[in-house]
Amino acid sequence: MNINKTIDLDFDRNHLWHPYTSMINPLPVYPVTHADGVHIYLESGEKLLDGMASWWSVLHGYNHPELNQAIKDQVNQMSHVMFGGLTHRPAVELGKKLIEITPPSLTRIFFADSGSVAVEVAIKMAMQYWHSKGIKTKNKLMALNKGYHGDTFAAMSVCDPVNSMHSLYKGFLPEHYFVPAPTSRFNESFDTNEIKVLEQHFAEHHNEVAAFILEPIVQNAGGMNFYHADYLNAVRELCNKYNVLLICDEIATGFGRTGKMFAVEHAGIEPDILCIGKAITGGYMTLSATLTSDKIALGISEGKAGVMMHGPTFMANPLACAVANRSIALLLESEWQKNILRIETCLKTHLTPLARYDSVADVRILGAIGVVEMKHAVDVAAVQKHLISKGVWLRPFGKLIYMMPPYVMQDEELIQIIDAIKTML
Ligand SMILES: *Cc1c(COP(=O)(O)O)cnc(C)c1O
Repeated sequence: MNINKTIDLDFDRNHLWHPYTSMINPLPVYPVTHADGVHIYLESGEKLLDGMASWWSVLHGYNHPELNQAIKDQVNQMSHVMFGGLTHRPAVELGKKLIEITPPSLTRIFFADSGSVAVEVAIKMAMQYWHSKGIKTKNKLMALNKGYHGDTFAAMSVCDPVNSMHSLYKGFLPEHYFVPAPTSRFNESFDTNEIKVLEQHFAEHHNEVAAFILEPIVQNAGGMNFYHADYLNAVRELCNKYNVLLICDEIATGFGRTGKMFAVEHAGIEPDILCIGKAITGGYMTLSATLTSDKIALGISEGKAGVMMHGPTFMANPLACAVANRSIALLLESEWQKNILRIETCLKTHLTPLARYDSVADVRILGAIGVVEMKHAVDVAAVQKHLISKGVWLRPFGKLIYMMPPYVMQDEELIQIIDAIKTML
C-alpha cells in the first residue's frame, strides 16, 4: 500500500487540506490513478466499486465516452468567456433544458459554480425580493435542524447549528430561526402534530422571515433523514399563509436520485427558489444553478438595486454547461425512472435484511440511496480500510454507512457493496 511511484503522499499529508480533516491527525487518503464506469482505480492496484458517486454527482459513470466528447468538442470552441455582456449556446441550451425539467413556475436561472454559492444566491434573491417590496423587517431565514446547505457563511448559517459548529463563528455568523427536524418518515404515517409545531414558529417569526430553506424529502449530510411528503406540503402551505418564500435545496436530490426528477415532486409542490448542483454535470465539472419564478425575478429587478447583486467570474462556464447538457440528455434518453426503481428494489431486497444485526439501529432506502444507521459511531479509517480490502469505496460519517451509487451500477455490483457492508456489522 505504501509503495507509490508517482503521487507524493508525504506532500499531500503535509501540505494539502482534505474535506473536514485535521492537519495533525488526518484520515488516510488513497491515491487514485483513474476512474472508469463504476470503478475507481488506486495506485496500489485495487479496483474499487464506487458507492458514493463522488458525493452524489456521478450519474452515468466515470470516463463516459459521450461526456468526454462533449467537453472535447466544447474546448475546441472555447473553454471559457465571461458571462458579463456575452452569452453562448451551451448556457442557452442548458437554461432551456432546466426550465423544461424543473417545476413550471421556475423560469429564471442564475448559474454559479458550486452548490454553496447557489444557496448564497438563493438567500440573496429572497432578501432582495422583500427589500424591493419595501419590507425591510424580513431579513432572517427559517431552517430545519439537521439541515445541510453548504460551507460558505450564509449557507452554513442555515445548516444544523450543532453539526456545523456555529459556536466557532459566534458574532460573525448570522443567526436564524431553527425548527425541529421532521420526524414522520417517508411513506409511513404522518404525525399532524408536526404541523402544529411548524405553525407556531411561523406565527411567531414570520414578520422577520424572508424565506424558509430546506432540503425536500431527504436531509442528507445532517443525518440522512427521509421525511414525509405531507411535511413538505405543510411547509409550502404555511409559507403561502404567512408570506414567506420557500427555498428548496435540491443540490443532492436533483436529477432523479430519489426516484423523481426533483424531490419536490413527491409532494407535488413548487418552491419559489430552487438550488441545484452536484449531479448537474454528471460529476464532470463544478456547476450549480438557482432558479426562481417570474414574480421573484421581476420583483428583485424592480427594487432599488435594480439588479441581482451577484456575478461569479466563471458564471455559466461553457465547458461545464456543455457537459451538463450532454449529461441531462443522457439521463432523459435513458429509462431513468425504471432504472432508479431497479436500484431501489435491489437495495430493498438486499440491504433491508441488515436491520437484523445487533449493531444496526435502522436501515432506510429511498430511490438510489441506501442507509445503514449503526447504534454507535463508526471508525471511518478502519471501515474504509476494510471495505477497500473488499473492493468497495464508501465514506461513512457518524453512525451512518450509506451508499448512493452511479445510476449505471448493476445489481451484482450493488450486492457486492452490500456484502462488503455486511462483513462490517
Ligand atoms: C453538497 C450540498 C451543498 C453544497 O454544495 P457544494 O458544491 O459542496 O458547495 C448544499 N446543499 C446540499 C443539500 C448539498 O448536498
